Amino acid sequence: MITPNGGDDHRYPDGKGSEVIMRVPGKPAQAVKPKLRGWLHLGTFPLVLVAGMLLVALGPTPAARLCAAVYALTSAALFGVSATYHRGRWSPRVADWLRRFDHASIYLIIAGTYTPFAYLILEGATRAVVLSVVWGGAAAGVLFRVLWVRAPRWLYTALYLGLGWVAAFFVPQFLEGTGPLVAALVILGGVLYSVGGLVYGLRKPDPSPRWFGFHEVFHALTIAAYVLQYIAVSVVVYRTGAL
Ligand SMILES: [Zn+2]
Repeated sequence: MITPNGGDDHRYPDGKGSEVIMRVPGKPAQAVKPKLRGWLHLGTFPLVLVAGMLLVALGPTPAARLCAAVYALTSAALFGVSATYHRGRWSPRVADWLRRFDHASIYLIIAGTYTPFAYLILEGATRAVVLSVVWGGAAAGVLFRVLWVRAPRWLYTALYLGLGWVAAFFVPQFLEGTGPLVAALVILGGVLYSVGGLVYGLRKPDPSPRWFGFHEVFHALTIAAYVLQYIAVSVVVYRTGAL
């Protein structure tokens, strides 16, 4: 299926990766969007919603529920906006805005994932610093993506990675508060998100440009990363009452 809208970067194609220009007899040149684009996130979205609501409902304290709600909202936004943007057929104007929201939601889920760990595990000044840095960074990232939609791919991909790993300095404090299992899940999840970011930035591997391209590999990695970090967030949220 050749669709004019909804493919990432389809309006600024450079002939690399999945976003190649195809000429169809009798039709203007258009970008090819792999057939499975967006289905992974569309399928994951309802599960993310239910998982998020469970976490909020089962949070043992008001603080735990609040952190769970922030995490649940930002993760639902990521998968929901991505599914809407990638699966729908939109006018170029709407597609442009959805693309901005799709990219902005990545900054939000990074801050949203940090929130339960920072708020429920860290204390005092360290907690304030980490929360301010991740939410300040996310707000700046959202503005940056919304205001500069044609920003170079390498730049915003690097910013996702930077914000994602910004609190790596506090690993000892996190470790002290969570233990090795939760820390391992969070870090492994971070690695999977980052590998996804690299796949997206480099546009390879691109296994099947017509069906399942590099963008789909990236989406699959985000789901795996989300699952690992969801388990870690759950442990931290449920444990709050027991501390
Ligand atoms: Zn995407």
